Amino acid sequence: MGRTSPTLNDGRTALALTATHGPSQHRAMSGTTHLPVFEPADPVCFVSPHLDDVVMSCGHYLTAHPGMTVLTVLAGAPARRVHAGWNAKTTGQRYAPDALQARRAEDVQALNTVGARPVWLDGLDAEYLVIRRDATATNLAARAARALVARRLAWMRARRPEGQQVTPALHDALAALRPNSVVAPLGLHHPDHAAVSNACLRLAAQAPWRCYLYEDVPYAHAFPGERRRRLRQLERRVMLRALAPVPAVDDRKQRAARCYDSQLEHLRTGLPRLDEALAEPERYWTVELGTDRGRGSS
Ligand SMILES: [Zn+2]
Repeated sequence: MGRTSPTLNDGRTALALTATHGPSQHRAMSGTTHLPVFEPADPVCFVSPHLDDVVMSCGHYLTAHPGMTVLTVLAGAPARRVHAGWNAKTTGQRYAPDALQARRAEDVQALNTVGARPVWLDGLDAEYLVIRRDATATNLAARAARALVARRLAWMRARRPEGQQVTPALHDALAALRPNSVVAPLGLHHPDHAAVSNACLRLAAQAPWRCYLYEDVPYAHAFPGERRRRLRQLERRVMLRALAPVPAVDDRKQRAARCYDSQLEHLRTGLPRLDEALAEPERYWTVELGTDRGRGSS
């Protein structure tokens, strides 16, 4: 099962958070000026399930507020594992540590582009919890490949207990980083996203930091029904307050996304609205913890 080592792997700098930020540079979108502005108190930690999610989901905000920390939870690789899954296919590296090294290098470039800094944990992507090989996947027709992905996701959902494997490592990392605000994924579509989102909400119940959620891009745009279901599910556990959408300040989010060279074309194949989604305003929510303080398991 996935390692949950609390080891912090800082891409560039020491762990101390020293960033300070000027006044908010973004503006509420026309027609949504009644909504509160997304203004998390510094220091802020953005939590990313995989190496690319926060840039694609929060790149506009990161660009406008340089110095943010992006903590990627599932940035580890099983040692000595030759694999034929997503990371091997997209990076061309069948040896898992080499594949993750390539993806971390892309992450450094992308976060440099938006002025953020990476911190990586050694949690394992759900695909590394899958023992079955799928080496023949590359030879399948696109329709069959999509069916395979759907079956794999269903299998992985059953395989990864909600949040249990990532919560301890995330707890220790956030204790070391000492943020005042944590910005977590809504938790759409992919079991890793749900697991990381649920782990953040579980920790928020006892944490000194304030919790926010961001909309997972591009899943929110590709699967609007899942977005609606997830919001309804979360609203049974916590009070969510929508914030004013955050528009682009320039094209740096798109440029940063292009740094994930191994991922982008593969994502475009399965998610045709990817480029449109990257250009759209970002969505955030505050999380008000109720009496059960996010203790639900899903
Ligand atoms: Zn992801």
